[in-house]
Amino acid sequence: MPQIQDSSDIATNLAAVRALIAAAAEAKGRLGESVTLIAVSKAQPVAKIDDALDAGHKVFGENRVQEAKAKWPGIKARHPDVELHLIGPLQTNKVRDAMALFDVIETVDRAKLARALAAEMTRAGRRVPCYIQVNTGEEAQKSGIGPEEADDFIALCRDEVKLPVAGLMCIPPIDEEPALHFALLREIARRNQIDILSMGMSVDFETAVRFGATHVRVGRAVFGARETGPATAAAL
Ligand SMILES: *Cc1c(COP(=O)(O)O)cnc(C)c1O
Repeated sequence: MPQIQDSSDIATNLAAVRALIAAAAEAKGRLGESVTLIAVSKAQPVAKIDDALDAGHKVFGENRVQEAKAKWPGIKARHPDVELHLIGPLQTNKVRDAMALFDVIETVDRAKLARALAAEMTRAGRRVPCYIQVNTGEEAQKSGIGPEEADDFIALCRDEVKLPVAGLMCIPPIDEEPALHFALLREIARRNQIDILSMGMSVDFETAVRFGATHVRVGRAVFGARETGPATAAAL
């Protein structure tokens, strides 16, 4: 992880990550503010999330609907302006819960889910921006639409399902050079006129920014090591 201590001082960590993001963006002639830092609070206690909120941070990510349901309604009541991103796999039977809690769904990867989200948006009278998750490494165990099918899937989501497709998201394989995956995601976004790229985590967010990330999802570099337990087992 780039130069960041596993400090419990979350305000310090946030400032350090933001400075690294700004440096990587400026090296490419972009403004630091053009990159949104999503603080990934999965398997972190509410006290640490409160520290981030106290430091003025507003954008967070969680990967499990159940865990978010336990943690976030109370926080959102106190901080109505937070923006919560779902960054983990979504089952169709959890779509209603997810739509009630999350402000962005980053993990749309199949037609059935796209249709369920669109139906729930109609029912609830609320549009929630969606990102398409692309499995750039074509890993069998990972969610996401394959890079070969991405163009058709994006077209289906937009034109037929009428989903508000706002961005693309990827999680590169842990044992590969992430830059190749970031470049692939950027290319898919470019040819589909998609502006938002959610890519980069604690280990590689600077590289992601250099490759055009508009959103980075950073957990441990902000909050420190995650608590152990069932919530973390599936969570990288
Ligand atoms: C956990 C997670 C992150 C953050 O990972 P860190 O290594 O803690 O920065 C980012 N994206 C997704 C999809 C995750 O599940």
